[in-house]
Amino acid sequence: MTKLASRISQVIPSITLAISAKAKAMKEQGLDVCSFSAGEPDFDTPQHIKLAAKKALDEGKTKYGAAVGELGLRQAISHKLKNDNYVNYSAENIIVTNGGKHSLFNLIFALIEAGDEVIIPTPYWLSYPEMVTLAGGKSVFVETTAENSYKITPAQLQEAITAKTKLFVFNSPSNPTGAVYTKDEIEALAKVIVDNDILVVSDEIYEKILYDGVTHVSIGSLNEEIFKRTIISSGFAKAYAMTGWRVGYIAADTQIINAMKTIQGHSTSNVCTFAQYGAIAALEQSQECVATMLESFIERRKYMFSAIESISHVSCPLPYGAFYLFVDISSMGLKSLDFCEKLLSEEKVATIPGVAFGNDDCIRLSYATDMNTIKKGMDRLNKFITSLT
Ligand code: GLU
Repeated sequence: MTKLASRISQVIPSITLAISAKAKAMKEQGLDVCSFSAGEPDFDTPQHIKLAAKKALDEGKTKYGAAVGELGLRQAISHKLKNDNYVNYSAENIIVTNGGKHSLFNLIFALIEAGDEVIIPTPYWLSYPEMVTLAGGKSVFVETTAENSYKITPAQLQEAITAKTKLFVFNSPSNPTGAVYTKDEIEALAKVIVDNDILVVSDEIYEKILYDGVTHVSIGSLNEEIFKRTIISSGFAKAYAMTGWRVGYIAADTQIINAMKTIQGHSTSNVCTFAQYGAIAALEQSQECVATMLESFIERRKYMFSAIESISHVSCPLPYGAFYLFVDISSMGLKSLDFCEKLLSEEKVATIPGVAFGNDDCIRLSYATDMNTIKKGMDRLNKFITSLT
């Protein structure tokens, strides 16, 4: 048997990807599966974005490009960050990556080593701690609860900080809970970050998917001191239905960008050149597509949340962003993985066990799917829960 590197035995394969793949395979076998698994918008990429990529292909944008990304895209991102997020990053402060996941992976590789601690609020997006482990660092988990709308408090953050703390991972709107921090809450966290002189990576991939009039506040926009300690991670997958394109980015000071450039220079080189031209169109052309998709998410969220409210024994806080419900199933007498496996085999409804996100009492439902699937899937979930109680 091949002796693999020991680091691989320390990480858990991605459950979101595994369950999504399983649900897809079951569908291909002709099974009537309702998938609430991957956080992947069901919409096709808007036409004008595809056309821009096709045009780039026809124009011969098919060669190697700069490892940091096309200058035009970095300028468009810089412009977007100034206009939408009130943060000043020039093109030199931006690196284009193969998606939000790759952004975070390379960032963590550039920053974290043995002995470093990274603070991650629980529930977390499942890849954060695995990336930290792969880089040799230590994740320090801080548990948040439904009672607190799954938000970390400044006191909790302060308590978790040690001399070894290097980075705090902040994600608002949050995957998997849909929690969105208010400006006051972010200000209070920023104060702790500045007082203790640590770094924060703000994962803002869901910033455009917000409900009920809440707004997104980019932590680095609050003042110069927090800006210096902030790294923004984002991408095009969620807002523009571009999951398969694999285009993301990091905005940070040039020292961090140059370190990431070195990593990319020896691993992936540039992101697919013509795909970057689609991303430019996404930012520079009409934003109506984002609003149209949001309309659908609003309807789906409303239906799915009401359905959960009408089922006894389960509950979840109302999400204000992203496209997930994080549902407490603790009174069902099953741990989250068993619950999800039984639900999939008995009722053909695919969901993600909360254990993947560091909370074994809950399951995650994604409503980035069509209304028919949502209606059918919620009926089946209701039937399944009734059968358990
Ligand atoms: N971020 C999405 C999710 O949480 C896609 C899957 C993944 O990359 O893990 O479902």
